[in-house]
Amino acid sequence: MNEKPEKFIDENGLRLDGRKIDQIRDIKIEIGILNRADGSCYLEFGNNKIMAAVYGPREVHPRHQQKATKAIVRYKYNMASFSVEDRKRPGPDRRSIEVSKVSREAFEKEIFTELYPKSAIDIFIEILQADAGTRTAAINAASLALADAGIPMRGLISSCAVGKVDDTLILDLNKDEDNYGQADMPIAMSTDGKITLLQMDGHLTQEEFKKGLEMAQQGCREIYELQRKALIDHYNNTQKEIIQDAPVESVKDISTESATEEDPIEDPVISDDVPDNGNTVNDDEIKEDIPDEKEEVILDEDEDNPAIVSDETEDDTLE
Ligand code: ADP
Repeated sequence: MNEKPEKFIDENGLRLDGRKIDQIRDIKIEIGILNRADGSCYLEFGNNKIMAAVYGPREVHPRHQQKATKAIVRYKYNMASFSVEDRKRPGPDRRSIEVSKVSREAFEKEIFTELYPKSAIDIFIEILQADAGTRTAAINAASLALADAGIPMRGLISSCAVGKVDDTLILDLNKDEDNYGQADMPIAMSTDGKITLLQMDGHLTQEEFKKGLEMAQQGCREIYELQRKALIDHYNNTQKEIIQDAPVESVKDISTESATEEDPIEDPVISDDVPDNGNTVNDDEIKEDIPDEKEEVILDEDEDNPAIVSDETEDDTLE
């Protein structure tokens, strides 16, 4: 573990990692990267590296956990042994159970659970690398994984922490600021500004609490914009991939359907100047291939089923 720094903020008002006091760490987002999950997101928040996977809505096991009128939301936060400096003992502990509980509650009211009675929506979080703020980073990732899974939500949940070092409020604490700081207050916020998680470690005056909350809310708004952009980029790229992978005919169909009168799709121009490569089939050969007796196709007169097409002749029809 690093030694406690003498000062966290220098004479220029910058923190030890070069950030301003109200600046969040860099965020990198990749959506939809796990093939076997219904929705997934890999997110880096400074030095935190997080994987979120969402499964569901799906059948509840064990069944006694089913709720007759809504889906249950389950959230499992797990820190990998190798995610921290000193190897962490694998498996759940008091801290991971607490983080899972408060994070689940941050999402429960935002998901339209009433649409999926008797089912479960499972959110799995793996912390691959931790550097303070893992619960907030995980919530940001989970929110995008839920959206990727197509789970109907009132909006996205965005999360970040505010804290205090050197008697100064700072946004989004890193590991040293978290370890040696005077306070740490993670929050989560919905798109319409509702606070869905608020915890506090340490001491803040009422004035600091108010100001800190505003700083954290501003941080969440910035994160929301990044989440929104990541989703838009992801779905634009997915759309392009679908069109690229589609057979040529179906792409033609799509383009024909979207043609308007003002913007008609022109018939392809067929040139007579095609060079003869010896494979050319002339008109007489084509005529020879056409059978003499044409198959008769009669439209069924049945008014109830006007769309039925029959290839029976009158003679074949059973009286
Ligand atoms: P958060 O990660 O949400 O800020 P905490 O404040 O509990 O949650 O933890 C702060 C940081 O302390 C973590 O991000 C991680 O880097 C470190 N940490 C937490 N639990 C352990 C642990 N069991 N072993 C080693 N380091 C840990």
